[in-house]
Order: sequence, then C-alpha cells, then structure tokens
Amino acid sequence: MKDRFKAIMIRKDGDKQSVEDTELGLNDLMDGDVVVAVSHSTLNYKDGLALTGRAPIVRKFPMIPGIDLAGTVETSSHPDFKPGDKVLLNGYGLSEVHFGGYSEYARVKGDWLVPLPKQFSPAEAMAIGTAGYTAMLCVLALEDAGIKPGNGPIVVTGAAGGVGSVAIALLAKLGHEVTASTGRPEEEAYLKSLGASAIIPRAELSAEPRALGKERWAGAVDSVGSKTLANVISTLRYGGAVAACGLAAGLDLPTSVAPFVLRNVSLLGIDSVQMHKPRRLQAWQRLAEDLDITKLSAITQTIPLSGVRQAAEDILAGKIRGRLVVEI
Ligand code: NDP
Repeated sequence: MKDRFKAIMIRKDGDKQSVEDTELGLNDLMDGDVVVAVSHSTLNYKDGLALTGRAPIVRKFPMIPGIDLAGTVETSSHPDFKPGDKVLLNGYGLSEVHFGGYSEYARVKGDWLVPLPKQFSPAEAMAIGTAGYTAMLCVLALEDAGIKPGNGPIVVTGAAGGVGSVAIALLAKLGHEVTASTGRPEEEAYLKSLGASAIIPRAELSAEPRALGKERWAGAVDSVGSKTLANVISTLRYGGAVAACGLAAGLDLPTSVAPFVLRNVSLLGIDSVQMHKPRRLQAWQRLAEDLDITKLSAITQTIPLSGVRQAAEDILAGKIRGRLVVEI
C-alpha cells in the first residue's frame, strides 16, 4: 500500500466551492472497516452536480467526490471481505457525507460493498456504475409491477444518457419493445444499436401535460422528471407503470390523479443510494445475466481522473452519450 496517494477534493470557503488535486495518507480517510485500492470510478449526472456545486450533493466539506468505486480489498476487518477480493460500491452517501471514489484508496463500511460479479472486470462494473445499476432497479420494479414482454411498448426517456442507454439495452435483451425518447436525433443509430425499435423526439413528451392522453405505453423508465414524467403518466396504458428515477429536467411533477384513478397506473419510485443490500445483490446478479456486455463498450468512454472537471460540465450540458468510466 502506498504511504501517499492521489485524490480529488472538493473544498468550500464561504459560498465558494473549489475542486483540487490533492495527496493524502490513510489517516486522512474516513472511518470504515475495509480499505479498497480503487482502480475505477465513474462520472454520473450526480457527480456533475457535486463537482460543479450546482446542487447541494456534498453535505460535508472537504469531500472526495465520486459516487461509485470498484477495486480490490487491501485490508479488512469485516467478516465478508479479505485482502484481494474484488468489490464495487454504489451510493450509500459516497460524495455526500463519506469520501468517494475519486481517490486511489477508499476506507468504507464492508456492509456497503458488493462482491464484483465474476462476469465483470472492475472497469466493466464501472461502465455500468450507478446509472446502470439504477436502470436495473427500474427494470426490476417494472417486473414486480407485472409488466411483461409482449404487453406493449416501453418508453425510455433521457434515452441517450447513462440510465437511459443501459435501460434500453436491458429491456431489449429481455424481449421488450422499446421506444427511446431523446433530445438528440443524431443518436438514432446509437439508440437502435442498443435495441430501441422506435425513436421519438424529446419534445413529444415535454409539452404542457394533459390530465389524460392517448394510451401508448405499457411501461416506462423515466430519468427526466417534470413535464416529461407527467406526460408519460398520462399516456400509460391501462394498468401500466413507470419507474421514476431521475430529474434531468426538474424536480417538479405537474400531474393529476386522473391516470391513477381512471387507468390504474402505477408510479414506482426508484432510489439507488440507500437501497437495501439484498436488492443491490439481486440487481448486480441480474446485470450479470441480462446485460449484453458487448453493448457496454459501445456506450462507454474512459477518462483519466484529471478529466472529471470538464466531464462534469459536459454531462450537465447533456453532451455525454452513455457512460463515463474514470480510471483512477
Ligand atoms: P445523463 O446526463 O447521462 O442522462 C440524462 C439524460 O436526460 C440526457 O442524456 C438527456 O437525454 C436527458 N436530458 C438532459 N436534460 C434534459 C432536459 N432538460 N429535458 C429533457 N431531457 C433531458 O444522466 P444519468 O443517466 O446519469 O442520470 C439521469 C437522471 O437520473 C439524473 O437526473 C440523475 O440524477 C438520476 N439518477 C437517479 C438515481 C437514483 O438513485 N434515483 C441514480 C442515478 C441517476 P437525451 O439527450 O437522450 O434526451
């Protein structure tokens, strides 16, 4: 283990937030019973918000950002993990109240760790990352709500983003008919290569929502929120369901009870951060079974740790396609 190692640190001085490269020792890390040598992290929308300070993601300063990490256990006093084990971690307050993945070493609670599925390398697990794991949580929620292949089209909003891309790949592989809603028509070939059979412009679902619209979707995965989610709800078919995980267009939800009381539709909330361990393990197991790994490379770019500041701006500007892996 190195005595000194590199990390990225967010500091706050009054109202001003800064992001700097730093060097730390193990004693500088937070409490935990497992030290992980981090090989890869990711850059998600939430990391973009944390790094730029555009939303109050970080609740304790100074903070090492990075909501995901993957690597190898260096030391452990947790009964489930020993040195050399490959592990991954999503959420659980990383980059909010506990130091995250943009660091060569992380000390965390073993209870937060998921053993790396043998089907994935650490880099592949991070190509999936929180976005892909959340996409799988959405798919599981739709399955629990009784939405089956053959029921009708599933619409995925924010389609060319991280959650959207993985959701399309998963749903298509499971046999669903997938419609991708995107603001980037130039990504049509990319979205079809993931398995989307139809593409609709973002504007079709972002107009002023009506209480009820024409019944279109058997199910939906929504990473956009606001009017888009409201339009999805009001155009679900009778008995349909939407898994709502995101807020790329806003936190508001201008809808009515009409679709719920007249069409028996369901709004399924998805939180990946505090999700309990059995569901996490199930989601990662299903990702290992149901995600076409060859599709992962098509949706993934790899950047160095030094590239996260620019990438944070880009993801918030909607310029990133698919997933970003950060090589630590
Ligand atoms: P990305 O930035 O990769 O994807 C978001 C996509 O949403 C964009 O690619 C774009 O897709 C679309 N979009 C962006 N801005 C707007 C807008 N103003 N109106 C309509 N569509 C827009 O982010 P992620 O996939 O990493 O995350 C997606 C959302 O899910 C975020 O809000 C994130 O915070 C949330 N999230 C929540 C989690 C949870 O636990 N609940 C976990 C992970 C993510 P396109 O160009 O195709 O239109």
